[in-house]
Amino acid sequence: MARSTPVSPLIAPYGGSLVDLMVPAEGYAEVKARASQLPSIQLSERSVCDLELLATGAFSPLDRFMGQTDYQRVLEEMRLRTGQLFPLPITLPVEASPALHLDRDIALRDAKNDLLAVMTLEEIYSWDLAEGAQKAFGTLDLRHPLVAEMHRWGQLNISGHLRVLQLPQHYDFQELRLTPAQTRARLEAFGYANVVAFQTRNPLHRVHEELTKRAAQEVGGVLLLHPVVGMTKPGDVDHYTRVRAYKALAARYYDPHRMLLALLPLAMRIAGPREALWHALIRRNHGANHFIVGRDHAGPGKDSTGKPFYGPYDAQDLLQRYSAELGVQMVPFHELLYLPDEERYEEVSRIPSATRTASISGTQVREQYLNQGRMLPDWFTRPEVAEILAETYPPRHRQGVCIWFTGLSGAGKSTTAEALTVLLLEHGRQVTVLDGDVVRTHLSKGLGFSKEDRDTNIRRIGFVAAEVVRHGGVAVCAAVSPYRATRNDIRTLVGAEHFVEVLVDTPLEVCETRDTKGMYAKARRGEIKGFTGLDDPYEPPETPEISLDTVIHTPEDNARRILQHLLQRGFVRAQTAGGTNGTQAAPVESLQ
Ligand code: ADP
Ligand code: ADP
Repeated sequence: MARSTPVSPLIAPYGGSLVDLMVPAEGYAEVKARASQLPSIQLSERSVCDLELLATGAFSPLDRFMGQTDYQRVLEEMRLRTGQLFPLPITLPVEASPALHLDRDIALRDAKNDLLAVMTLEEIYSWDLAEGAQKAFGTLDLRHPLVAEMHRWGQLNISGHLRVLQLPQHYDFQELRLTPAQTRARLEAFGYANVVAFQTRNPLHRVHEELTKRAAQEVGGVLLLHPVVGMTKPGDVDHYTRVRAYKALAARYYDPHRMLLALLPLAMRIAGPREALWHALIRRNHGANHFIVGRDHAGPGKDSTGKPFYGPYDAQDLLQRYSAELGVQMVPFHELLYLPDEERYEEVSRIPSATRTASISGTQVREQYLNQGRMLPDWFTRPEVAEILAETYPPRHRQGVCIWFTGLSGAGKSTTAEALTVLLLEHGRQVTVLDGDVVRTHLSKGLGFSKEDRDTNIRRIGFVAAEVVRHGGVAVCAAVSPYRATRNDIRTLVGAEHFVEVLVDTPLEVCETRDTKGMYAKARRGEIKGFTGLDDPYEPPETPEISLDTVIHTPEDNARRILQHLLQRGFVRAQTAGGTNGTQAAPVESLQ
């Protein structure tokens, strides 16, 4: 089980050797054949990440999902039953099931049902949500992303000996996915004993580049740039974008003899101080004896009363307290700010008052730069990174949006949609029209008008609209869509920020008088059953973004009103005489 490296200049793994749970080649066929007979459970994304790090020894000396004694002691004292430090619980929560029997084997599979491991069930125990949340995260507040997630976890924890047959498959960035043993081998080749690790879940800007280079200088060793690509905080920049940026930086701006970029498939807990200690332990297993901790490390932001969950330097304090025992030195970083007059970064505490400083917050990056199509300035981020971020986060006028018309048959949805489509094309947007009647001739061919079929039709339109929006297009949808719940589902599917619900609010009598397709007459004669507005309900939206009156306004007036709304929200750009836009506007630097 142990893989010791006696001649390595690097710090030994915590506990002396790396845990290795992989089934050796000789035993593989037998364990695999037996596994196919076993009852299975499917692991959550989080548990798959945990299993991968357990299997490769990143959590050494932990070699299994925690049993009850480990779990309790970790909660109380941040220690395993052996007394070794371990700051956060790593458990495998499951729902109660007749398949769970003590001393029997169970197969662990991922979401696609691929077999990952076999576990011998040595413990099955219940755990208490309030206790777990309070002790591990110091809060019961649902704004804490892990506390919120824990409400969905199974009631029982299971634990036991693990035989891992296969690590989770990753098709992306394979050259950067290094196990602790592989990371150590690569680090050894640099020839330094000191390794300083940097953890991140964000794009790297100049400030991070600066602090990581300073840290490597300070320790006289190698930088292990070790971004998390498992699960981070909901809403973070996706890891594909981030890793493309890290690669660009590694290639151009770091000394290749002093830095290693590797990806860590960790599922973060966003647990501030305890998480910092855990991060340091994981990095020790990868060969680092120094770990950078800055302001609000792994912080979940503010709680529901507006107070931060953890103090900005609590993480530094906690790691400092345990650093001798853990063998990992804390490399503290205080906030750095840019000094435009001197064109350099400096620690806040060292900046004399009345000095001009500049910084751009994460919110400003999104709202004042990316959404508006402005390039981030090069004092803030390298141009390669600015470009990658601009690709992922195009300006509003190139982001997708769905205009969803709803209303009675004959209300004027198609007519208004047609006028709007032309105006959008005139303003340089790409449009996909999904008209209920037209969709029924292809995408939804064969569907009838039962409640179920009508719902299916609407959901198909919603699905396609969501795809169009995701790829930056405008989806103009016109269908009666009488049921509120279905429309709300589609709003969620598309993304509420990109969904504009337009109620074409034409009274039933007016629609019936228009009766362009002769449908109302047929329905009145009883030839059509379940006709919306007559013998089937129409549920108008409670708070549509726009409500149109087609009795006093023409289709063109109404279409222009929608266009105005899109202009205001930035989804359409105003036409200017020169045809260009405002991307050259002055950057917003907060000069203090
Ligand atoms: P997290 O701390 O949640 O993993 P980040 O990726 O933002 O998120 O941070 C990685 C590390 O860099 C943390 O230790 C953090 O405190 C530090 N850090 C981030 N921004 C700054 C900054 N402007 N100045 C100093 N340290 C920073
Ligand atoms: P829907 O798509 O809502 O079933 P249509 O757009 O196909 O409705 O039909 C609406 C009918 O009403 C068309 O014949 C259109 O010419 C007529 N109409 C009259 N005034 C208006 C108006 N202000 N807005 C939209 N349509 C109108």
